[in-house]
Amino acid sequence: AKRHGRSRYAFFDIDLHALHSERCVLSEELRSAIVRGELNIHYQPKIGLSSGAFVGVEALLRWHSPTLGSVSPARFVPIAEETGCIVELGAWVLRRACSDFVGWRAGGCGLERLSVNLSPIQFRMPGFVDFVREVLDETGFPCDRLELELTESTLIEGTDEILRTLNDLAELGVSLSIDDFGTGFSSLSYLKKLPVRALKLDKSFVTNIDSDVNDRTLVDGIIRLARSFGLSTIAEGVETKAVSDMLHQMGCDQGQGYYFAKPMDLDSLKDWVSSADV
Ligand code: C2E
Ligand code: CA
Ligand code: CA
Ligand code: CA
Repeated sequence: AKRHGRSRYAFFDIDLHALHSERCVLSEELRSAIVRGELNIHYQPKIGLSSGAFVGVEALLRWHSPTLGSVSPARFVPIAEETGCIVELGAWVLRRACSDFVGWRAGGCGLERLSVNLSPIQFRMPGFVDFVREVLDETGFPCDRLELELTESTLIEGTDEILRTLNDLAELGVSLSIDDFGTGFSSLSYLKKLPVRALKLDKSFVTNIDSDVNDRTLVDGIIRLARSFGLSTIAEGVETKAVSDMLHQMGCDQGQGYYFAKPMDLDSLKDWVSSADV
């Protein structure tokens, strides 16, 4: 439904030809980005709101093309999903992120969880769970420290197939969280039957809770809902102390955002962890 909506929108509003050729250029360049070594991962810290401690990171894909410059994942991920290229990109991210943290955990940092974003396309690939198991085996990254962030659109179909994949992942010890929670306008009934650990509040609701009463009401409601289902909550887009304090008061478990730290490369993250009082 989403794809249909998007192309219809494009039809009315945007110069189709320009859009088409931009897509072609991006998808051509993306295809060789992996082998040319143009991809990188930035890691953004997650902070426990009660303890103030560093508890985890989210892996965020970065692409620097020599011809196009830095391209935002918000632009290239949807294209990679349309062309199917996301399967390869996503596999690269998971393997790389797990191997980045395997040695580091042994070094004794406080990382509780490594979170990796997952596209619905990857998730629906036959053999996906086996692939995750393989990566964990190969890298030696501990299963119970991996968390996959899924969007609601992956889950709402609620087919047996999807439920089976989720249960297999949960059985493997991998945790699941729902990304951009609340933006999908979906039925909430799936919450009671899926093996989900956490809800992630989208930054579009979070960033202005200190000034916008509606956003505050919404965020408060989601936190209460999560708690009543025994789910953990994490807020993204925390940009100020006021918002962080307010989230803590509302009972939100973790925060992520520019107020704490921006996404950064692995070396900078190591420096940040050892220098920051976390
Ligand atoms: P997301 O998963 O919702 O990630 C959060 C986005 O918010 C990231 O944008 C992050 O850099 C940004 N952000 C973090 N803190 C703040 C803040 O305080 N204020 C504001 N305004 N923004 C903040 P980014 O890195 O550009 O990624 C955009 C989207 O691209 C992600 O949204 C995710 O949907 C997708 N994406 C990124 N990496 C991957 C990946 O490896 N696989 C897949 N499938 N999607 C990815
Ligand atoms: Ca995410
Ligand atoms: Ca997202
Ligand atoms: Ca988001």
